[in-house]
Amino acid sequence: MSLEEEIAKRRTFGIISHPDAGKTTLTEKLLLLGGAIQKAGAVKSSKIKDHARSDWMEIEKQRGISVATSVMGFNYKNVKINLLDTPGHQDFAEDTYRTLTAVDSVIMVIDCVKGVEIQTEKLMEVCRMRNTPVICFINKLDRQGRDPFELLDEIEEKLAIKVRPLSWPISMGKTFKGVYSLYEKSLHLFTASKITVEEGIEINDINDPVMESYVGENNARQLRADVELIEGVYPDFDANEYLDGKVAPVFFGSAVNNFGVKELLDTFIRIAPPPIARETTVRLIHPAESRFSGFVFKIHANMDPKHRNRIAFLRICSGKFERGSNYFHVRHNKSVRFSNATAFMAQDRETVDEAWPGDIVGIYDTGNLKIGDTLTEGEKVMYTGIPSFSPEIFKEVINQDAMKTKQLEKGLLQLMEEGVAQLFTYQLGKKKVVGVVGALQFEVIQFRLKNEYGATVEFASQPIYKACWISSKDPKKLAEFIDSKQRHIARDKDDKLVFMAESRAWLQMVQDNFPDISFHFTSEFKD
Ligand code: GDP
Repeated sequence: MSLEEEIAKRRTFGIISHPDAGKTTLTEKLLLLGGAIQKAGAVKSSKIKDHARSDWMEIEKQRGISVATSVMGFNYKNVKINLLDTPGHQDFAEDTYRTLTAVDSVIMVIDCVKGVEIQTEKLMEVCRMRNTPVICFINKLDRQGRDPFELLDEIEEKLAIKVRPLSWPISMGKTFKGVYSLYEKSLHLFTASKITVEEGIEINDINDPVMESYVGENNARQLRADVELIEGVYPDFDANEYLDGKVAPVFFGSAVNNFGVKELLDTFIRIAPPPIARETTVRLIHPAESRFSGFVFKIHANMDPKHRNRIAFLRICSGKFERGSNYFHVRHNKSVRFSNATAFMAQDRETVDEAWPGDIVGIYDTGNLKIGDTLTEGEKVMYTGIPSFSPEIFKEVINQDAMKTKQLEKGLLQLMEEGVAQLFTYQLGKKKVVGVVGALQFEVIQFRLKNEYGATVEFASQPIYKACWISSKDPKKLAEFIDSKQRHIARDKDDKLVFMAESRAWLQMVQDNFPDISFHFTSEFKD
């Protein structure tokens, strides 16, 4: 197969949801449909339950599970699907943000009872930054949920994306009858707990009285009224608008009952984008360019202190990846040989000899790679769009064992390279402050520093609201600002200037007082 053909048959995506909306269940049904697993129950939730805070066994187990299910590759109707898992626990949200930089589209799961929840809102913000195409799956229709029109309005309002229903539920909860596919003009009747999936019943004219015989008089009337309203209110589905991330097609179903999942997947493979061109520091790189390139979006460390190897997850963006080849490590400005690469097929890892754009390969690494690194066949370009986001909780690192200062520094550096947290070093006094998205990360850092590096640390809370990357068109103004706010200026891992704002109100005041300074909530920005 040619490079173009390999690219055209690939779909690399992630599922995002608020915990408990049904991401794990949907993943499992997709794998069943793809023949990648044989029975339900095979996919373990990568969730850490709240009661498991501080339970190290649980966290280690989670780390083990998450590497096995990090990338699930399978074939469905001659399409190679790469599903990238995202951690369910919100304390690991940063990991999810980064994974979203490696996908070409997402499926968003929403619980029809709860509607749009906070975690979904945050993840959608990340998708919007890159105009990632989104398909929406409204789940748990076997439960009495909210009115579907109300749910659609809420999605448009809270997630700031237009929607276009492609299927429509007929009743809900105990009286749930099924969905009508507006796309295929067919009726899918709901039967609970089925493993096999039946084809829909074609009903080209929704006014055909045969509808009554399937769903009853009242439901048929309601469906016709709803469909009339939908066709009146929502413009026709425009695939290009979806690809631009402007409109999200919406499906309804019940993942646990394997209902509506096949229609979702069938539509997904038809409309979701194959790998497309990506931006670098120098130029746009097209996947069909013959020269290989890719970037690292995730690093997974071994918890065993005796084996400090890590797996770097490489997203292939162009050309063909071949095991054993030498590739150019742009940040290090040198050529590196990768003899030990693995492909991820649902739940198994196997040695991979070649991989194509859209694929993810795992590379064993002893500390050469970090998140955001680009590998090429020689060209000096770095993929962009893998920013750091401002953390939400900040604490100062206090070394408790002066004899282990070196180990601490090394440990901190490596953990930060893995993306466990972000380190900010103050200009004054060299104070080190760690920023995370969720409090659980502090426990992970403390435990791993001790366990893997022998360093003992405590954390001291810091009254910081946000880390803002700063810039200015006027270098003199920037220097003045730094001078006047010295106590609040730090450097991030790439030595970029960061202003550590103590509160929202204070940040607002500073922004008003220094109109020539730009404040950014992510590390990548355009002035
Ligand atoms: P995740 O946290 O998003 O991965 O959610 P899970 O897939 O673990 O699902 C959370 C809970 O919702 C589990 O108890 C599932 O069995 C249940 N669930 C998933 N899909 C459905 C559905 O369609 N209907 C109902 N009633 N429950 C569901």
